[in-house]
Amino acid sequence: MAEIMVLGAGMVGVSSALALQSNGHNVILVDRSAPGSETSYGNAGIIQAEAAEPYALPRQLQTILKYGLGLSNDVLWHPSAIIQMLPSLLAYYKHSAPSRHKQISEIYAQLTSRSTSDHTPLIADADAEELVSREGLAMIYRNSKDFAAAAETAERYRREYGVTSRILSGDAYCAEEAALKKCPAGVVHWEQSWSCSDPGELTARYAKLFNHRGGTLKYGRAETLVQTSLGWCVECNDGPVEAESAVVALGPWAPDLLKTLGYRIPMIYKRGYHAHFESPLVLKRPLLDASNGVVAASMTQGLRVSSGAALVNRDSPAEPRQLERGTKALKSILQIGQRLDEPQWFGTRPCLPDMLPLVGEAPNHKGLWFNFGHGHQGFTLGPTTAILLKQAMDGQTSALHEALSPNGRISA
Ligand SMILES: Cc1cc2nc3c(=O)[nH]c(=O)nc-3n(C[C@H](O)[C@H](O)[C@H](O)COP(=O)(O)OP(=O)(O)OC[C@H]3O[C@@H](n4cnc5c(N)ncnc54)[C@H](O)[C@@H]3O)c2cc1C
Repeated sequence: MAEIMVLGAGMVGVSSALALQSNGHNVILVDRSAPGSETSYGNAGIIQAEAAEPYALPRQLQTILKYGLGLSNDVLWHPSAIIQMLPSLLAYYKHSAPSRHKQISEIYAQLTSRSTSDHTPLIADADAEELVSREGLAMIYRNSKDFAAAAETAERYRREYGVTSRILSGDAYCAEEAALKKCPAGVVHWEQSWSCSDPGELTARYAKLFNHRGGTLKYGRAETLVQTSLGWCVECNDGPVEAESAVVALGPWAPDLLKTLGYRIPMIYKRGYHAHFESPLVLKRPLLDASNGVVAASMTQGLRVSSGAALVNRDSPAEPRQLERGTKALKSILQIGQRLDEPQWFGTRPCLPDMLPLVGEAPNHKGLWFNFGHGHQGFTLGPTTAILLKQAMDGQTSALHEALSPNGRISA
């Protein structure tokens, strides 16, 4: 019997399996599909060391109206999803109050600031150096008012969190980014962020490393999880698997399993889409068009354009309006070729109202552990919360562990 089973082989689950294995534990990783084939595949691939403050809900009437009336490409919403997620959204709104958001950001920044150094040994040991670029992330602004505000925020981030950036005029940035055909008003180049040309492949390489180090990967269904006299048991394709402890790292699907065990997880599902395009040039670094809520990043498959958040029911059909609008806007400044013929991809950012992942032991079940809810930055934070989980499972405590612990944050 294994000591620990990790359910879910996205960036968070695979990193958890590696961290627990490094402590000498016998670990089994279980997923219904191949490692890194869901949200950890389709994201924008940025390891966001700059993201010290998680996305809050807007509280200014003007911005709320803009979102409510669908005038911004950052957010799209469906009335039925808003009704279904209303209690969670109200809690999110409360946690977005400036003073509370500041407290949360102080915790969040402790995670994002170490994200690149926590990925470093995994990238090296997984032989994945060619997938990672350390050129940073460019946020481009189309008008001088937004650019001035962004430059001020960048200066504040430097002061408060030590996040460094270069503030460049649009012309200066055009001189270094050959793919731009028209210059924006200005650019903030976040220097400490990294990017990955194939996030699904990086997750798969981490899983291969886990395998090479003696870990076992199995195909199975998390919804069959039951508590036994010895620990936890799950049905896998080649029979039942038992372990003393189970880690739930199922990303946006974690609430489904935990509901069967009596937990109500107040998850907010923020959908995003991507599409790949032929591109004559490789971008020097990913580019976020802040005025149009869209990211362009050069990937193995082509230029990946990813959209902002859609508050829709997790399993509702694809409706890629934001992606289409964002792509149209990008085409006015960036050289973009034909769209590749692929089925429309979308995935869900698993967000919690207090914007922090849930990492720690389940309140009512011995040997059941959580590591999910990484929202907009799960690809960034997988290795970091994996280390914190390992420490928590070893009995270590700290203010950071307590802040991420499920205790008092979910109904059970
Ligand atoms: C458009 C978009 C762009 C993004 N860009 C970025 C970015 O640039 N940087 C960043 O840091 N983050 C980004 N994110 C967020 C990031 O992708 C997620 O936070 C992260 O991938 C979550 O990882 P995870 O391992 O928790 O979930 P997942 O990668 O979804 O893994 C969950 C796993 O659980 C498995 N599973 C689910 N149900 C079952 C079951 N019943 N039985 C067995 N297995 C099951 C799935 O198969 C899957 O492998 C983006 C997200 C989107 C949608």
